[in-house]
Amino acid sequence: KSLTSADVRQMYLDFFKAKGHEVEPSASLVPHEDPTLLWINSGVATLKKYFDGRVIPENPRIVNAQKSIRTNDIENVGFTARHHTFFEMLGNFSIGDYFKEEAIVWAWEFLTSDKWIGFDSDKLAVTVHPEDDEAFAIWRDKVGLDEERIIRIEENFWDIGEGPSGPNTEIFYDRGEKYGNDPQDPELYPGGENDRYLEIWNLVFSQFNHNPDDTYTPLPKKNIDTGMGLERMVCVIQGTDTNFETDLFKPIIEATEKIASVKYGEKEDLDSSFKVIADHMRTVTFAVSDGALPSNEGRGYVLRRLLRRAVRFAKQIGIDEPFMYKLVPEVSMIMVDFYPEVKEKEAFIQNVIKTEEERFHETLNEGLAILSKIMKEETEKGSNIFPGTEVFRLYDTYGFPKELTEEYVGEAGFTIDEDGFKFEMEKQRERARNARQKTGSMQIQEGVLGDVHVESEFIGYDQLQTQSKIVE
Ligand code: ATP
Ligand code: MG
Ligand code: MG
Ligand code: MG
Repeated sequence: KSLTSADVRQMYLDFFKAKGHEVEPSASLVPHEDPTLLWINSGVATLKKYFDGRVIPENPRIVNAQKSIRTNDIENVGFTARHHTFFEMLGNFSIGDYFKEEAIVWAWEFLTSDKWIGFDSDKLAVTVHPEDDEAFAIWRDKVGLDEERIIRIEENFWDIGEGPSGPNTEIFYDRGEKYGNDPQDPELYPGGENDRYLEIWNLVFSQFNHNPDDTYTPLPKKNIDTGMGLERMVCVIQGTDTNFETDLFKPIIEATEKIASVKYGEKEDLDSSFKVIADHMRTVTFAVSDGALPSNEGRGYVLRRLLRRAVRFAKQIGIDEPFMYKLVPEVSMIMVDFYPEVKEKEAFIQNVIKTEEERFHETLNEGLAILSKIMKEETEKGSNIFPGTEVFRLYDTYGFPKELTEEYVGEAGFTIDEDGFKFEMEKQRERARNARQKTGSMQIQEGVLGDVHVESEFIGYDQLQTQSKIVE
């Protein structure tokens, strides 16, 4: 079948609409009234109000295509076929209505029926929780799946700490031996670290409450929460090597080729640059469209880091000047039908990105020169540790996010002195605190002194990750 990404998204919504679901629009990437989350990172994240009973939905069956940002997969982005920082999650939800059987049987129907996606059912395998005999039996008896293709895996339990939790079942598409055929590879199984068995859909059965004392009691109402990665589905359907050759990314890569000194596909290691740029472009474009702006804290720091990371990868393919802002129209064109707001805000988004790129470029080369100089000095001393004070100086003066420095020097075999960096950050915080105390009695001047005394609320990237990992 030849389907576009827009077709697949629409088919999913239509399928579940036909099964009595209410179609909810994609919510903003910036969470509202949810301080535990940095970004909306899944379909269910915007529906928590229904899951925890704060709001009773008119229709207990909901379907959506939700924009999501995850930073926990960033190291993988550009290097695996399937990870993004921004992606769309297609999900169907039951709030105390249908449960395991319908969720599984409908998922199978959507994937394998010729009226819908029409996958060859021999290509699919699933995982279930070892103790979830019920799900196992549904797959075997109602769906008719071979027992060998129902794998019991311990990790199949969805738990976010306090709140609804429960076992889940995941669906994998076997892309064939071309993507892994080493029988000795311990990771080559559905759920392992490989690009062959592609995890396309996660069905969560929230049936327990995780209590504050870490006990689990059955929920009065059982819910269904599912998530399917649109980009991965489209990759399988369009038969591409990675998600990046699908119609969701290809135009961005082609536009990048026009500015770069090499072509995509010419050199494998340089392809990663194109992928990182295409990925980060989408994230930044959508995040700014939803109201986030680059800065040194929280969400803004993530954006700053993504933009600067893209600039770093762009250098490798011969792009040495601000260019990302030029790719915004590509992103908005691909997404315009379902997300017209991006097209509407195009000029604003371009402006934000261009300004941030220019700021970084002003100091980039200077920063890079310092970086090489320090590494040379350390090498001469027989050390391969990049001093924390220098990591801080690069961050503070040259706008190099710590992680960026880490990646740069990592390529030369260096590690950074984390403790030293943390120490410098703490000192800076201390200075800011003192400065604020001093100005406390001079309220009137605060407006003027504001620039000088802004406290950096940098809380460390690790922490940002934990925050955004909450529903995983
Ligand atoms: P993975 O194991 O591949 O990292 P996950 O198990 O963390 O995925 P879930 O939390 O189960 O992902 O999310 C539901 C679905 O969303 C996944 O089955 C996948 O199709 C998609 N998905 C999750 N993370 C990403 C990502 N970083 N990029 C693209 N798609 C993703
Ligand atoms: Mg993951
Ligand atoms: Mg997984
Ligand atoms: Mg999963």
